[in-house]
Amino acid sequence: MVRSGQLVVLTILLFSVLAFAQSSAPGTPTIPPAANHTGPAFDVSAAVDAYLAKMPPAQRARSDAYFEGGYWLILWDFLSTVLVMWLLLRFRWSARMRDLAERLTRFSPLQTALYWVQFIVVVSVLTFPLSVYEGYFREHTYGLLNQTFGPWMRDQLVGLGVGVVLGAILIVPLFGLVRRLGKNWWVWGATLMIAFAAFVSLIAPVYIAPLFNKYTTLTDAGIKDPILSMARANGIPANDVYEFDASRQSNRVSANVSGFAGTLRISLNDNLLKRCTLPEIETTMGHEMGHYVLNHAYKGLVMFGVVIVIGFAFVNWGINFGLARWGEQWGVRGITDVAVLPLAVIVFSVYIFLVTPVTNIITRNMEYEADLYGLNAAQQPDGEANVDMLLGEYRKLDPGPIEEFVFYDHPSGRTRITAAMRWKAEHPHSANEEEMARPLFEVK
Ligand SMILES: [Zn+2]
Repeated sequence: MVRSGQLVVLTILLFSVLAFAQSSAPGTPTIPPAANHTGPAFDVSAAVDAYLAKMPPAQRARSDAYFEGGYWLILWDFLSTVLVMWLLLRFRWSARMRDLAERLTRFSPLQTALYWVQFIVVVSVLTFPLSVYEGYFREHTYGLLNQTFGPWMRDQLVGLGVGVVLGAILIVPLFGLVRRLGKNWWVWGATLMIAFAAFVSLIAPVYIAPLFNKYTTLTDAGIKDPILSMARANGIPANDVYEFDASRQSNRVSANVSGFAGTLRISLNDNLLKRCTLPEIETTMGHEMGHYVLNHAYKGLVMFGVVIVIGFAFVNWGINFGLARWGEQWGVRGITDVAVLPLAVIVFSVYIFLVTPVTNIITRNMEYEADLYGLNAAQQPDGEANVDMLLGEYRKLDPGPIEEFVFYDHPSGRTRITAAMRWKAEHPHSANEEEMARPLFEVK
C-alpha cells in the first residue's frame, strides 16, 4: 500500500516535473509587435499563413484525417490491451503459462523468462489484427508506407525478437525484486526500470536500429562539412554524421539523436537528404544538436523517471486491489507470481493512458527547445518553416490549442513555423527568398 506520506511526495515530484516541463511551454507562441527595423515591418502571422498555404487543401485534409485518426487509435490500443490482458486472466491462460514454465524448470529466473516468451508471443498474436490495420493497411491508405507486406512483416518479427530478449532482461530481475522485497518492490522496481531505459538507449543505436535500417556515415562533403562545422561551433565532438535508409519504410523526413553516454550519435534519414535543400538540412541538424547540447537524453530520463516511479506505485496499488478480489478466480497466487503480469499491464496501461498529456508536455517542450536552439545554430528560419511543412504530411499542421496540449508529442506545424518567423522578424538578414518560393508539394 502507498502510505499517504509517500503519496504527497509523489504528487510533489509530479508537479515539479510539470513545472519544469512547462517553463518553456510552447502552447500558443507569442508574436511580438513588429520591431523597429528599417524597411517595412515584417508581419509574422502573414508569413506563417503563407507557409501553411504551401500545402494544397486536399493534402492538408488528408494529413488532418490521418493525425486525428491517431487520437482514436490511442483509445483503441488501450482498450485492446485491456481486453487481451483480461482474457489472459479470466480464462487462466496466464496461470497455465506459468504452470508450463514451472514444469520445464525449477530455477525461478528461468521460469520468469519462459513465462515471458509465452506471454509476448500470445499477446502479439491476439493484438495482431489491430497492429496490421494500424501499422500496415492504414499507413498504406494514407500513402505513408513504402513497404509491401513481406518486408513489413519481417520488421514486425524482428521487433518481436527484440521484445523477447529485452523484455526478459527487464522482467527477470524485476520479479526477482518483487520476490525479495514483497509489497515494497515498486521503488526499486522503478529504479530498475529507469536503469533499463538508459541501457536500452545506450545499446539501441549500435545493436537495435541496424536491425531495421542500414546506417552508413554520410560522405557527401557538400552536406557533411557544413554539418560538422556547425557541430564544432556548438561544442559537439562529432567526426561523423550517420545516414540511414528510412525510405525502406516510408517517405517521411526525419533525423534523430540517439544513444546515451558513449553511443550518442546524430543521424539523418535518406528522405531528408533526397527531399530537402541544404538550409533545410542545416536547420534540422541544428535542432538535433540542440537535443544533444541541452542534454535532453538525461533530462528526459529524469522526468520520465518520475512518471515511472509514480506509475509503479499505482501498479502496486492496482495489483493488490485486483488480486484481493479476483486473484483466486484467475489462479494467480500473489504479487510474487509471474502470472500476475497481465494485471500489472492493465494497471500500467490505465496510468499511461491517463498521463499521456503529461508525457506529451515533457517531449513537446524539449522539441520546442531544440527548435529554438536549431534556429540560433543554423540561422535558417525559412528552411525551418519548409521542414515544418514537410512534417505536416503526417502531423496535423494547425490544431486547436487544447488539441495540441493533449495530443501532440511535438509542437504543431503552426507553433514551429511561428517560432521560426518570430526569429526571422528579429534577424531580417536571414530571409531566404529561394526557400520562401520553393514549392514543397506536388499537386497530385
Ligand atoms: Zn527533436
